[in-house]
Amino acid sequence: MSPRLAANPTPRTFGAVRIYLDHNATTPPRAEVVEAMLRALREGWGNPSSVHAEGAAARACVERARGEVAALLGARPGEVVFTAGATEANNALLCSVAGRGRGRHLVTTSVEHPSVREPTAALAAEGCEVSTLPVDAEGLVDPDALEAALRPDTALVSVLWANNETGVVQPLPEIAERVKAKGLLLHVDATQALGKHPVDLRRVPVDYLACSAHKMNGPKGVGALFVREGAPFEPWLRGGAQERGRRGGTEDVAGIAGFGAACRLARDELAGRIERWSGLRDRLWDGIQAKVPRVRRNGSARRVLCNTLNVEFEGADGEALLQALDLEGVAVSSGAACHSGSISPSAVLLAMGRTPEQARASLRFSVGHDVNGPQIDRVLALLPDLVARARGVGGP
Ligand code: PMP
Repeated sequence: MSPRLAANPTPRTFGAVRIYLDHNATTPPRAEVVEAMLRALREGWGNPSSVHAEGAAARACVERARGEVAALLGARPGEVVFTAGATEANNALLCSVAGRGRGRHLVTTSVEHPSVREPTAALAAEGCEVSTLPVDAEGLVDPDALEAALRPDTALVSVLWANNETGVVQPLPEIAERVKAKGLLLHVDATQALGKHPVDLRRVPVDYLACSAHKMNGPKGVGALFVREGAPFEPWLRGGAQERGRRGGTEDVAGIAGFGAACRLARDELAGRIERWSGLRDRLWDGIQAKVPRVRRNGSARRVLCNTLNVEFEGADGEALLQALDLEGVAVSSGAACHSGSISPSAVLLAMGRTPEQARASLRFSVGHDVNGPQIDRVLALLPDLVARARGVGGP
């Protein structure tokens, strides 16, 4: 058991409702999503590949959802391949497109999610040449530097649309234009962008895009890979003709139905979400600046997701602060990750030039559907005291 889990007793909530500010980790499924999943379990339990009526009912659930995912992305339904989440979508794409042949060149960034970073490292170990672009202190990739890294033998460019830790949004339309002007292939991990930021693939010429249902009030274990019509793709999971031969395995019909419902909600609500969530995020940041001394925002304040705020509480022990907030009923996430028992500072914050101490003193707050103003005010009332205590941990 990790030290964090061992040290963390069941949170005391004093009967109060918990305040969940960790929507970039996962989101609770919305009622409409649960409803769609229950309906699919009851009425769409057949095998979508079967030709009989039971199969047709299941197939209809899958195809209805595919239409919703495609509509949210600005894609054609045939360009959507369902997967078991974004980790699979990223691995499938990188291994399918970039992994063909040795000595090929890949371009990526220093702030990718591990589901891109680690397959890329594995490809490098197998002989691919990888150019990893740095980011500036705000977490942004320079499109000129990206363009300069492109070569005729570049097999793939892979760039995260919005970062899960800082919420920083890369200048994707500009990056896509530069990559496509050279006739190269672009993969985008849009897991955090979808449902919180405008994503329209009719306007942004990416070739591949990964997304995940559970980051947008859908179920866990389901996601999609967009493969633009005509773009090269080899299946990663073989062994079945499902998904038009692009992903073997019987489909998770209920999960896919839930994903479709979540995409429908996102399409209907996007403008309202951006307005409401950015208001909550700004209320939190304004309040923190007013009430807590020695704080600093991590990442661009201009190019950032509407729901994400990453803050360094200078000199504080972020893990201790996270646990103290948890005991008060508030869920957030820290600038450190717990890997096999030891706590290592966030690679994303380090890539932005922060020191390990600064990364360890950082917390991520990410708002979502059920968060409201009074909850933000409650967190603001708690923070000054808890930060002062977390600053006293482990030092004089
Ligand atoms: N990419 C990003 C940017 C993410 O935030 C996540 C989830 N933390 C993933 C990929 C992986 O998604 P999934 O949980 O669906 O495998």
